[in-house]
Amino acid sequence: WLLGGVLRRAYTSTRARQATAGDSGPVFSRAPAYRDKLAIVDDSGSHSYRDLYGSSRGLAGRIKAALDCPSGDLHGKRITFLCANDASYTVAQWASWMCGGTAVPLYRKHPLSELEYIISDSQSSLLVAGQPYADTLEPLAHRLGLPYLQLPPTSSLSSLLEAPETQPEPGITDWAQRPAMIIYTSGTTGRPKGVLHTHSNIQAMVQGLVSEWGWSRDDVILHTLPLHHIHGIVNKLLCPLWVGATTVMLPTFQPQKVWEVLLSSKAPMVNVFMAVPTIYSKLIQHYEQHFTQPRVQDFVRAVCKERIRLMVSGSAALPQPTLLRWEEITGHTLLERYGMTEIGMALSNPLKGPRIPGAVGVPLPGVEVRIVMTNATSTTIAEGNSRETQVRSGLEGKEGELMVRGDQVFTEYWNKPEATRESFTEDGWFKTGDTAVYKDGVYWIMGRTSVDIIKSAGYKISALEVERHLLAHPDITDVAVIGVRDATWGQKVTAVVQLKWGLSMTLSELKTWAREHMAPYTIPTGLVLVEEMPRNQMGKVNKKDLLKH
Ligand code: AMP
Repeated sequence: WLLGGVLRRAYTSTRARQATAGDSGPVFSRAPAYRDKLAIVDDSGSHSYRDLYGSSRGLAGRIKAALDCPSGDLHGKRITFLCANDASYTVAQWASWMCGGTAVPLYRKHPLSELEYIISDSQSSLLVAGQPYADTLEPLAHRLGLPYLQLPPTSSLSSLLEAPETQPEPGITDWAQRPAMIIYTSGTTGRPKGVLHTHSNIQAMVQGLVSEWGWSRDDVILHTLPLHHIHGIVNKLLCPLWVGATTVMLPTFQPQKVWEVLLSSKAPMVNVFMAVPTIYSKLIQHYEQHFTQPRVQDFVRAVCKERIRLMVSGSAALPQPTLLRWEEITGHTLLERYGMTEIGMALSNPLKGPRIPGAVGVPLPGVEVRIVMTNATSTTIAEGNSRETQVRSGLEGKEGELMVRGDQVFTEYWNKPEATRESFTEDGWFKTGDTAVYKDGVYWIMGRTSVDIIKSAGYKISALEVERHLLAHPDITDVAVIGVRDATWGQKVTAVVQLKWGLSMTLSELKTWAREHMAPYTIPTGLVLVEEMPRNQMGKVNKKDLLKH
């Protein structure tokens, strides 16, 4: 164990040294160079890089004043915020960074109990609410005794420029190793864990994607994903902000609106789109229902083919029928990639060159991967980087656990040293918990090693967390939650429930109760009532067996 600790520390410090050598500052530090270039277009209007930078400085000044630190450095302080999917999000994130602090984004769909858990677990110093969420956060701040700031409406973010004496970036030189953000993610045990990324982790993630997917300042991306998740934060927002591109942000995902924006000939015209498989599936359903005329279908295909340069799918396995239908409709073969909150993006099909359906390509630049046998021998089956993969002879095509190493891998689970230690091997490989295979020159994800992680609509859901919530229902005596395969959602959260004797329950009754207590995307959409939960001699439910029935 001791040796492992030493090895891990040695590896971490090499990573830190490398990152410092190539440090070019946090994402916001590039904004002044982009001046009046359009950064974000949202429901409130257009925001240039100059606007975003200025408003962020203004908010940074207010944050420091609220924390009684007018000129100092908020190193180590967590600034937690809840904003709409618009420019106010970036202003809150950049302001937290300009103060030297750590950004902790909240998600509007989380119930109060979840918000409170994240605020407490991350030991937030201050809460910032975008205008629509003032009613949610202000009472919470009062109750928890935390300083609170409310943003102006997104259309008047520039009023933040009238902030008190503003002195952001107080001579900070150690950006690379600074904690930049904590993203909460579900695991197989306990409550959600805070995944801490430093600025150098973010730079490594962004730079790998920018070079591999050919990002440039001429790009215009359509953003429809939640902003408490690595996909929405890094791939779809920080990458364009890094290169000086434009992000068109929609407050929520609505198939009709997405089609409208993709097909609109109004500037700025979208040329990059990224989403989870469920979104592609919903867009296809909308197309089938509403775009029935051949003339319209030809138009859709022509616009997508001519104008859009890149369409990416990830965060869950892309079903082949979705890939094929999307190809017919738009002429685009979706680029499928694989990633995770803890590691950013690790594997990707190529920007140019053949994209193999069902496979997730090869490692991105700077990423090393390994497939390791899950038995006691822990034999390495395959190991590779963006240039090559070597396979142990005799083990070609064998399944094992995927492990990842590189500068983009997170630094730690916030305040959970034990969990951090357990998630890495002694020589610094992060254990993803995903089963993978290397064959035909590319990597394939075969699924999670644990049945307790459910992926529905791209959201990662802990079956154990859902069970914990459902057990609080007064009529439920036992419950097992499983992910049942589904063409649109990837997996459907399904509750196998044992009720108190003589009682009954419908799915809609369960949903009504759950809406009060759980985030909407975690609420079961399937219910199976059992007289007695099938438990083995050890008292465990064999979920793999349940899934077969
Ligand atoms: P999250 O941390 O919420 O981004 O979830 C990461 C998990 O999503 C991974 O560990 C995988 O189980 C799954 N995942 C992401 N991308 C893919 C993909 N292209 N194919 C299959 N599973 C994926």
